[in-house]
Amino acid sequence: MRDPVLYPFYADLSSLPGVGPKVRPVLARLIGGETWLDLLFHLPVSWIDRRNRATIDLAQVGEVATITGTVDKLEHARATFPARIRLRDDTGYITLTYFHANRQWLERTFKIGETIIASGLIGDYKGGRQMTHPDHVVTPDKDDELPEVEPVYPMTANLTSKALRKFLAAALDGIPDLDEWIDAHLLKRNNWPAFKQALLRLHRPKIYDPEGFEIARQRLAYDEALAREMAMGQARLARERRFSRAIPRAIGAERNIIEALPFKPTRGQMDAYSEVAIDIGRPVPMRRMIQGDVGSGKTLVAALAAAQVAADGGITAFMSPTEVLARQQAEAIGRFLAPVGIRVAALTGRDKGVAREAILNDVRSGKIQVLSGTQALYQSDVDLPDLSLVVIDEQHRFGVADRMKLNAKGASPHMLVMSATPIPRTMALAVHGDLDISVIREKPANRQEVTTAAVPDTRIDEVMAAIARAVDRGERAFWICPAVDSEDAGDAATVARRDVLASIVNAPVEMVHGRMLGPDRDAALDKLRTGEAGVLVATTVIEVGVDVPEATIIVIEHAEKFGLAQLHQLRGRVGRGDKASSCLLLYQAPLTEGGKERLDILRKTTDGFEIAEADFRLRGPGDLLGLRQSGLPTFRVLNISEDANLIETARTDAKSVLMADPRLEGARGAAIGRARDLFAPRIASMVTENE
Ligand code: ADP
Ligand code: MG
Repeated sequence: MRDPVLYPFYADLSSLPGVGPKVRPVLARLIGGETWLDLLFHLPVSWIDRRNRATIDLAQVGEVATITGTVDKLEHARATFPARIRLRDDTGYITLTYFHANRQWLERTFKIGETIIASGLIGDYKGGRQMTHPDHVVTPDKDDELPEVEPVYPMTANLTSKALRKFLAAALDGIPDLDEWIDAHLLKRNNWPAFKQALLRLHRPKIYDPEGFEIARQRLAYDEALAREMAMGQARLARERRFSRAIPRAIGAERNIIEALPFKPTRGQMDAYSEVAIDIGRPVPMRRMIQGDVGSGKTLVAALAAAQVAADGGITAFMSPTEVLARQQAEAIGRFLAPVGIRVAALTGRDKGVAREAILNDVRSGKIQVLSGTQALYQSDVDLPDLSLVVIDEQHRFGVADRMKLNAKGASPHMLVMSATPIPRTMALAVHGDLDISVIREKPANRQEVTTAAVPDTRIDEVMAAIARAVDRGERAFWICPAVDSEDAGDAATVARRDVLASIVNAPVEMVHGRMLGPDRDAALDKLRTGEAGVLVATTVIEVGVDVPEATIIVIEHAEKFGLAQLHQLRGRVGRGDKASSCLLLYQAPLTEGGKERLDILRKTTDGFEIAEADFRLRGPGDLLGLRQSGLPTFRVLNISEDANLIETARTDAKSVLMADPRLEGARGAAIGRARDLFAPRIASMVTENE
């Protein structure tokens, strides 16, 4: 139910004059969308100031100037020389240069003895000034057609900037003024223009005012932040109006589980669990994320929650991104919960037919209280009437859309998502605004620091020899071969490396790669876990969650090709036991600046939060979070790191609006609702569908 006043913003590009079946796909690809709104948010990257009307002697190399002069000479192109036009004024000469220009056009445009105005970048050629391919050439009577300030857009082949400007002009003329949705004080304090005014200032500026451009951009960025915070806030309100089973804390079971552990839980683990216990003790669906670095022991927290649920007669579904992990987690949780007689089963795509039915029957009859599986658990027919808690492990592979899909299933279970990607607070707010967050900062006390070294791949033989010696001492190792060119190449590299290592190491060498079947992968991993194998060669399929406490070395080939977060995740496969561990980053020289910086950061720190901050700084938020994977629209104007304060302000503002007007019925509420529909339509519609 969108407000009809917004229709022009949703109009298809093809309704713009000049956008036919040929142009539309080119334009759509350039702006990353198909509506007028997408076009209007294709903002200029800079602006050219053409007011610099210099005489020729004052035109500075490297500046844009608009020069009035008399055509003095025209030389057509010949051989490798471009066409050259000499202009003169009272102060000197300048040359206009054209490569591959049409002869007739040149003669029509540049008539000897006539005056013209040329605007463009002043260059230098063998000591003389020249303008190569002026941006504009007009006769003096057309002077007012020369834009004084000209926006510069990211462009693509097959589309001229002139055409783009024409489409934008049509869209700008076709959109209405909208009622202001930003708080009047905030608007005034920041000197922000109205929404349409901001677009006009950026796309069709009357004056060259870099500060004013930034102010207009900020206003649009704030619009996006506010819309998103509104949608998230409404989702939260809707959730709080729904009922979930309130599950009392099971003190006895909790104590028995903890007493049977071979270690003492950390403070962070217990604090996180307390927050979860309180949440699921309320009759409102929990939406909580536990953020804890790899190895911080998140599984135990989930297991304690599952025990609380089981003590109340409910079922817990535990979801992992891969089958290998689902089975491993079934085992780990089963071990934690065995002392209190809670049974855990794995249910993945591999369990079919009778076996699958048997497991489901045991769940329905209450013999099994925890199911560990993959996404298949909720995409399939599985019907779990007593499902009270859903745990989503390694959440970066799941997105808001998946979470909301889950909401639709069953009688609104509590939901706990676990992430090993520590992210800065502002970003957490912007991305996971629908969740409450618990952070586990410390690592278990028995952990050894992992020593990290960067080694050029010319020394790969030494590294392999070192692995062989470690295996002789009874240690185990991972060896990672990335998919450098393609998935297939990664698999092939894995096979080759396994063969070489097998000839050097005095123990079986196993491998895991993308094309292997689930059971074969599990078997290989199991051999490393039990110690039957000494080395596991793998592609990045083992990136998350795999737990082999005896593994002490991880070698990462082509480490320079990985992102920081991923390297950190991989490194987290070792240092999980009580033996000193090491991570060897094999790189191919020469390293790029970025590659060198990444490897340096990893050598200096093992703190996931510090690494996340660095990653954020180096690459921006996109890849770190798997924002794209998570199914969220990335922001068009808002920059999560630079506009952090805008996000905080928007959050506070959205909260106070919702407090006063939860249904957005007042004038400002309705205006904000329009902003939400414009900038956060996906979240808004998911909320109404599912919450
Ligand atoms: P992650 O947070 O990466 O999911 P896990 O839950 O897999 O970490 O825990 C990693 C390993 O540490 C497991 O073998 C687990 O049994 C063990 N572990 C968990 N908590 C502690 C603790 N407090 N002290 C020692 N070891 C622990
Ligand atoms: Mg884990």
